[in-house]
Amino acid sequence: MQEPPLTAAINVRAPGYLAAVARCACWHCGRDTPVVGIALTPAHETWIDDAPVSGAARAAGVWQAAAAGAWIFYVEYLPLGVRRRLQALSPLYRYAYNRATDGAYWLNLCAHCGSAQDDDHLHGEPGAGFMPTSTQAAARIELIAVNERFAAWAGGYSYDPPLFEAMRAARPGPP
Ligand SMILES: [Zn+2]
Repeated sequence: MQEPPLTAAINVRAPGYLAAVARCACWHCGRDTPVVGIALTPAHETWIDDAPVSGAARAAGVWQAAAAGAWIFYVEYLPLGVRRRLQALSPLYRYAYNRATDGAYWLNLCAHCGSAQDDDHLHGEPGAGFMPTSTQAAARIELIAVNERFAAWAGGYSYDPPLFEAMRAARPGPP
């Protein structure tokens, strides 16, 4: 069991975020399992490194304001409050090592067989978890608006995703 870092550099920040809840068929056992993810409204910023990178641990850069919503995935760092809220929605959202990517990040484990549900699948496969191909499928994804400051380090970023507006907005859940 990996211990998630308590502090880290961040490359995305926002005044709030959308906790996303969906279901998907496990790639390993094929059974239906809940998954959670993180979406951002247009009110977010991403860190852009200045080019060329000087070789310093943290290159100089700027925060760039977004103009559309986004998904983040391959999330390596989340503040404690965000972790707690997502784990309250799905206790199988864990910071864990994934063989497929040879790294640790926040990922969803199958409720039946415990297999890691790779973010490449959930966010990159049309028709899978967070990549609906119809308004009906999009409406089955629940987006819960959380009005708490958000920060993260994410290796994956999907800007202005299709069918975002078709996903239903739910009320904030318990902390
Ligand atoms: Zn499974």
